[in-house]
Amino acid sequence: MKLSISNLTKTYTNGLKALNDLNLEIEAGMFGLLGPNGAGKSTLMRTIATLQNPDCGKIAFDEINILDDPMAIRRVLGYLPQSFGVYPNISAEKLLDYFAVLKGVASKKERNTIVQEVLELTNLCDVRKKSVSGYSGGMKQRFGIAQLLLNNPQLIIVDEPTAGLDPAERNRFLNVLREVGTTNTVIFSTHIVDDIKELCTDMAIMNRGRILQHGQPSTAISKIKSSIWSKTILSKDLEWHENEYQVLSSGYNQDNSISIRVFSEEIPHESFRAAQPNLEDVYFIALQKDNTK
Ligand code: ADP
Ligand code: MG
Repeated sequence: MKLSISNLTKTYTNGLKALNDLNLEIEAGMFGLLGPNGAGKSTLMRTIATLQNPDCGKIAFDEINILDDPMAIRRVLGYLPQSFGVYPNISAEKLLDYFAVLKGVASKKERNTIVQEVLELTNLCDVRKKSVSGYSGGMKQRFGIAQLLLNNPQLIIVDEPTAGLDPAERNRFLNVLREVGTTNTVIFSTHIVDDIKELCTDMAIMNRGRILQHGQPSTAISKIKSSIWSKTILSKDLEWHENEYQVLSSGYNQDNSISIRVFSEEIPHESFRAAQPNLEDVYFIALQKDNTK
């Protein structure tokens, strides 16, 4: 299974170019689309899900040309939008049964089986009799996964599912997604680097409607090894350091000093120490390079 996107461009009516000649190939597995707010992630996902048309470009999923044959992709697609709106005041079990009817599962017996299956997969069995409108944010997101699994999709698209979840809910949600991702192609977007680190075998960094970088997280990290340096400074010296060096990130310590991370092929100054590169460094280097273009 392969999703191939080529030369995809989308201009909104206000003139904003949300997708700018975007190219991307995604193989089976767990794929993370990482980018800041406004990068164009939701636009790209809605376009793959055939909910909106691009100006030009091509999207193919195996043999299916998505833009020419939207019905064919809808049959094999599970899509969870960034915000799912409001839920009616009925139990998860009943609501899933209703969605299964809409998705064309006619036999009551078959529906019972598949509803039970998706409730188990998403860890919602214990609360299946409870109203979805009373669910917590994390339970709602897991319910979102449950409903999209009803038609056994081959391609699953989940748009920023972890935004707004507390740490425990986020962990439970990522575990469910990990389970689902072992047998499907899952594309999920996030602006949180840790989501990618914990989950994805493949990732791309997106900004301003383009893909900046694509590959395995571990490969991206090894490419910048021996180029990350750290130093502890006084907070009043931060601005000077930002002007002098390529500062990727900074964070306060308990004694009010600041630790900075700097990108440089060689040691920037003898006051710096070599640091272990991480995925956040990869992300900030890519964004800084793009934003100074
Ligand atoms: P992301 O999901 O990465 O935050 P979006 O795809 O939502 O990015 O948005 C990309 C850009 O397109 C943003 O600048 C956003 O303001 C703009 N945008 C999104 N939807 C519309 C729309 N319907 N009309 C005009 N501009 C839009
Ligand atoms: Mg979005």
